[in-house]
Amino acid sequence: MDKFALPHRFCGFGKSVWDEYNRLAIDYKPLNLGMGFPNFHPPEEITKALFEVANSPNTNLHQYTRGYGHPRLISILTKLYSKLLQRNLNGQTEFLVTNGAQQALYSAITGHIDEGDEAIIIEPYFDLYGPMIKIAGGVAKFIPLRLKNQKNKNLITSNDWVLDPDELEKLFNKKTKLIILNTPHNPLGKVFTLSELEMIANLCIKYNVLCISDEVYEFLVYEPSKHVRISTLPGMFERTLTIGSAGKTFSVTGWRVGWIYGGQKVLRNAQVVHQNCVYTCTTPIQEAIAIVLEKEFEKLNSNESYFAKMSNELKKKRDFMVDIFQKIGMVPSIPDGGYFILADWSNLAGKINLDQEEDEFKDYKFTKWLCKNVGILGIPPSAFYSDLNKNIGENFVRLCFIKSEEDLMKTKEILEKLK
Ligand code: PMP
Repeated sequence: MDKFALPHRFCGFGKSVWDEYNRLAIDYKPLNLGMGFPNFHPPEEITKALFEVANSPNTNLHQYTRGYGHPRLISILTKLYSKLLQRNLNGQTEFLVTNGAQQALYSAITGHIDEGDEAIIIEPYFDLYGPMIKIAGGVAKFIPLRLKNQKNKNLITSNDWVLDPDELEKLFNKKTKLIILNTPHNPLGKVFTLSELEMIANLCIKYNVLCISDEVYEFLVYEPSKHVRISTLPGMFERTLTIGSAGKTFSVTGWRVGWIYGGQKVLRNAQVVHQNCVYTCTTPIQEAIAIVLEKEFEKLNSNESYFAKMSNELKKKRDFMVDIFQKIGMVPSIPDGGYFILADWSNLAGKINLDQEEDEFKDYKFTKWLCKNVGILGIPPSAFYSDLNKNIGENFVRLCFIKSEEDLMKTKEILEKLK
């Protein structure tokens, strides 16, 4: 027996789409629209806040802060979400600041999953949900969003991807501990509607299940869509842990600040996990995010709001990408939120030769072909499905459009060659 073999609970996670596609990016130097982060400078007020903190005479800002969240950040998060949820939140017992949304997910999941517990994941999904459930000893049960309401075969909208309520209810049973919801959704950009959320909420209540609502793109929603928080539905606050991300919200994914808010009892479980591994997150970064959020709070719902400006900017970038895809015969699935777009490339299949790639799934072959021969890196969406449902993603490629004007123009030039 190999004494130093990887513990069995981590086995099977050694290979990731990110490793493989980061490697491709290094080897072929394509225009990288694969990874989900902006390639332009964050807004000046955000970097200025960090400068202000770094040079502050308050030396405590460079030392450990409160474990569950830096007081100034907790204070503004409490104010912000109390307003957004129309509910008086308690900063001490209903919030946890984490090292990015990723650690929020980890704390929420491992704080609830026991050996043999079941967790429902809606596909396609942020690829870390599955491993986190397995590491905690749980069993993931998958249900795909299916393309159903499509009115026009040359155009898909993120709303055309829907859950079948009966199929979903069949996954709930006595062992179901939690369901993970992601709205606005990565990679589809779907913003779940009130009636869809009510359907999920009713099942959570009926089967006494926790909802982990990953809302990292909550402030990146395109008019006329509106983001609805499932925790605001009757009976849901106490059984929901909602996750946010400063990185996604302010285009600073490297700052690694996220948070969870939710019912005191369930939030406490996430706090216990956090306290026993991370304990405390970076102080100066939390202070800087707090300064920015305080300013944003004053402008909320006005034209000066950063949230509104960012969504308007991104909507233009989205429309630009949609237009390119339509011109070259790919069918875009138009997102209502987030900053990814899926496009069906199967109309191009007759014109290209994918035989050089040995991968099992067509979208892997296509994205590798695109990278090596056209010079654009996208991600194969089948990576975001369980084995049984990978075929649903195979005709698509995922591209990230939170990129500079210059890179979007380059994308247009490059992709137009495929016409
Ligand atoms: N959830 C989703 C749906 C995401 O797309 C991401 C990042 N791509 C995360 C969580 C993690 O966010 P963070 O960078 O704040 O850890």
